[in-house]
Amino acid sequence: TAEVQQHGFQAEVKQLLDIVIHSLYTDREIFIRELVSNASDALEKLRLKQLTEKGIYKADLPLEITITTDEDAKTLTIADHGIGMTREELQQNLGTIAHSGTKAFLEQLKEKGENNADVIGKFGVGFYSAFMAADEVEVYTHSWQEDAENLKWTSDGASGYSVEAVDEQARGCKIVIKLKEGQEEFAKAERVKEILEKYSNFVTFPINLNGERVNKVEALWMKSKSDVTEEEYKEFYKFVSHAWDEPTYTMHFSADAPLAINSLLFVPGENQEQFGMGQMEPGVALYCRKVLIDPKPSKLLPEWLRFLRGVIDSEDLPLNISRESMQDSALIQKLNKLITKRFLKFLERQAKDDTEKYEGFYKKFSRFLKEGIATSFEHQEQLAGLLRFESTMTDAGKLTSMSEYLDRAKDGQEEIYYLVGNSRELLEKGPYLEAFKARGLEVILFTDGVDQYVMDALPEFKGKKFVAADRADIDLEDMDAEGEALDEASLKGLTDWLGETLGERVEKVEAGKRLVNSPVAALAPKEAPNAQMRAMMKAMGQ
Ligand code: ADP
Ligand code: MG
Repeated sequence: TAEVQQHGFQAEVKQLLDIVIHSLYTDREIFIRELVSNASDALEKLRLKQLTEKGIYKADLPLEITITTDEDAKTLTIADHGIGMTREELQQNLGTIAHSGTKAFLEQLKEKGENNADVIGKFGVGFYSAFMAADEVEVYTHSWQEDAENLKWTSDGASGYSVEAVDEQARGCKIVIKLKEGQEEFAKAERVKEILEKYSNFVTFPINLNGERVNKVEALWMKSKSDVTEEEYKEFYKFVSHAWDEPTYTMHFSADAPLAINSLLFVPGENQEQFGMGQMEPGVALYCRKVLIDPKPSKLLPEWLRFLRGVIDSEDLPLNISRESMQDSALIQKLNKLITKRFLKFLERQAKDDTEKYEGFYKKFSRFLKEGIATSFEHQEQLAGLLRFESTMTDAGKLTSMSEYLDRAKDGQEEIYYLVGNSRELLEKGPYLEAFKARGLEVILFTDGVDQYVMDALPEFKGKKFVAADRADIDLEDMDAEGEALDEASLKGLTDWLGETLGERVEKVEAGKRLVNSPVAALAPKEAPNAQMRAMMKAMGQ
């Protein structure tokens, strides 16, 4: 029949609409993201139908999203040639709340009190968010099957909606947003373009705004590696990171288990923090099926990976997950773990495959890896394996690694020796290395300002303890005594005399076995800060 059918909204929808309409919510623009994402979903569903079904209505219509603004009429129209809706589906999908995200939203609101308008921005409230900007919404639709009805759904977002038969429609949905007073900005092409660029640039279906294509960038991360050129990666990197340099590393991977992920990550060409530009914000955006969820999610990766740029897309994510609940959602933690692990593996591979390139990366970005060691216990060992440094067994300027150190270590050597100082030259001049040299033991020479902090946080590598070479309690075995040792009595006389002479300035004087050519060395007692730490404390005025 051609009658207009009136329907009441389900109670929960009314509740939701009431909040959406009456809140003083500021980020209203997200309703465009929601409607575009619905259009994209509908196109995706149609694409699947095309693979299995015959008799698709207006089969030649392109899989596109068409957006038009009309400033005079104060309308915004979003149309797609997707799967569309039948009468039943209109009632089910746009009259009830079926999906869990919105239910979670309502629960959150109940907890926080209805006045907390802030919550809306943190949830995508889906289709109903259109009423943040509209005082009336019309949905014209024809479902994908040839014999489906031409329908119009209308609502003012108050108590209910109506459904009626109309003249011939294109396949899919056309949603007309009649803007409220004060929301006219969403009928301005420039404003809408800006919003589309912000949220929907990587929707893989073409989006046309008033006849012009807006989303020029493809969702490269959803493609398979073999279909993407080096040039495309570079362009994409520049786009997502708003940068002009070229990426050092590009890591493109997908996984099906334990989570469905498509991810494209870049290590930038330059480390901005090195240029004193302050601490970087996280730069890996979170997408769900090509729709942006959050451009800068802070918990998606550990903080020390803030230099990474790119996109992580997970199908397992509810599109309307709140940013707030995202912070501690188990899913985000899982993603975090998984990606961090993959990235560290990736770096290990890079270090092996092209040492020179890796060292170039290391010179610019090592501070982040070191921060990771100091702040993330979970990845300490892997990160320690990625450290590069000079040692008493490398030529000046040549770098080595922990694994190489262990390869060279003597049988039965249970410790890894290191020394921290301002330069290799100073460290080599000091008295601490002699005993190690004499015994053929390698000592790592750390010369970066943060190395002391890093080593304080790092107890061991592959079961071998780190030991500072300037610690007093080192017991170096099987020293070959050279020359004639003093007898007990003379030794006691000498140490007593030194102790009295030096007085307050030392804690104790002891005969030791660590020196070879120097007669005396000042050592840090076991519990005290070592020389580097003391210098740092002095510099800080302590
Ligand atoms: P969600 O997208 O999370 O399912 P929404 O509130 O955004 O929730 O949309 C509700 C439902 O309405 C969708 O699941 C879909 O079935 C239907 N729908 C919305 N927009 C369209 C569209 N453009 N084409 C076809 N169906 C749509
Ligand atoms: Mg939706």
